Amino acid sequence: MRIYNTMTREIDPVETTHPDVARIYACGPTVYRDAHVGNMRTFLVTDLIARTLRYEGLRTIVVQNITDVGHMADDTGLGDGNESLPGSQDKMLAESEKTGKSALDIARHFESAFHQDLSRLNIYPADHYPKASESIDSMITLIQKLIDSGNAYIGTDNSVYFSAESFPSYGALSGNKLDSLRPGHKFDAEENESAKKFHADWALWKSAGENRTQLTWETPWGRGFPGWHTECSAMSLDLLGESIDIHTGGIDLRFPHHEDERAQSNSATSGDGKSGNHEVVRHWVHAEHLLFETRKMSKSSGNVVLVQDVIDRGYDPLALRLAFMQHKYRSQMNLTWEVIESSQELLDRWRHKVNIWSQSDSQAMDQSVVDEISGYFSQDLNTPMAVNALRTLEKSSDISDGAKFEIFAHLDSLFGLDLAREVGKDLNPTTQIPTEVSELLEQRNAARSAKDWALSDELRDQIAGYGFTVVDTSDGAHLEPTKS
Ligand code: AMP
Ligand code: ZN
Repeated sequence: MRIYNTMTREIDPVETTHPDVARIYACGPTVYRDAHVGNMRTFLVTDLIARTLRYEGLRTIVVQNITDVGHMADDTGLGDGNESLPGSQDKMLAESEKTGKSALDIARHFESAFHQDLSRLNIYPADHYPKASESIDSMITLIQKLIDSGNAYIGTDNSVYFSAESFPSYGALSGNKLDSLRPGHKFDAEENESAKKFHADWALWKSAGENRTQLTWETPWGRGFPGWHTECSAMSLDLLGESIDIHTGGIDLRFPHHEDERAQSNSATSGDGKSGNHEVVRHWVHAEHLLFETRKMSKSSGNVVLVQDVIDRGYDPLALRLAFMQHKYRSQMNLTWEVIESSQELLDRWRHKVNIWSQSDSQAMDQSVVDEISGYFSQDLNTPMAVNALRTLEKSSDISDGAKFEIFAHLDSLFGLDLAREVGKDLNPTTQIPTEVSELLEQRNAARSAKDWALSDELRDQIAGYGFTVVDTSDGAHLEPTKS
């Protein structure tokens, strides 16, 4: 597989440290609210990468963190859909204040909703879902290591800061080099500028003020809580070791979250501590943002859409998955209800056809077609081309129905659309007609024989009430489910 690497700005081959295993770390949700469909599009990218690598024969180990402490409300201007929160507050605590529930109760509630949404979108569960609040010991160990190596120091406010200047290649990932970061450009509103030595330093650990009554821990530097970037270094190093093959997240995380994580992880694992010359992450993958009806999803503009909203409108959540796959993960996508509707129609049609094809004699798959379509996944996740190739295959007159069935069923391990869901479903709807409706049809036939047109029409209307249309043909009347 080849995929765009934010670090090299090239589409690089995925080269794994271990020949048979790909180690993948995905930044997960901040669980103070439901994940919206934009978040889900980013989580889907990790699933598509993992499916492609497994299809190519690798084993995958996927870790996705649950952020339940330390993520401050947005003040970067990039937005995360909840700008109503004050910038200087931990998102979990802000929600706790608003609802009167404990931060951890809120976290467990939205964590479970997140798992449900993943499963609705056929996103395979990760192997590990570490929680920030349960990884404090690892974070303390990491921070101590960075202090010992001279990469971090205790500020005048007893918070621990990472020294950006101690990491010479700072900025290589995002392009935000230290000399271009202006003093006073704050990425964390709560940070105390005067307590740190250099304006681009950031807090690994924050000293807790008296007002903070939840989510604090005792440490060698006093009571406090972790800075957001600390958790991803600590948890990824803990669970995946010092060589991580692929790290994923949304484009907004490139800076400062991933830039800072890279500095922390590389510094903690390079032999001399100072130079940070060991590259922990080999491949950085960032997914572009989703817009809804041309606007950024935000609570204040009332256009945050959840997977549940899609279901409530009668759509299969996998229509959403198909809609996402019809756009390149590296381009912004504008989702609309019309886009979901047309994806639903395509999905319904494919499932119906797969059912019809399944009733033909099975035929061997045409390997060149399979390789072409799976090859699109391997080429920087070109899922739009893969979807188009399935459309072409569907219409092809050169490939038998039996082979089409085999190819669709086989490639569903990549697409994840449950394409064979309707196999075995009765193709003849007349056998599913309720007895009341059959009786009404018989009465209508009798009325027509007696030329009682008024009664016949009335019975036809009664039948329509059950969702069936009477179709009169030269062979007599039969029933079809009414098309909506
Ligand atoms: P959060 O729960 O805010 O920490 O975000 C979880 C993931 O969703 C991160 O990888 C974000 O970069 C990503 N994300 C946030 N907003 C969007 C969006 N509108 N479209 C796509 N991904 C997003
Ligand atoms: Zn992260």
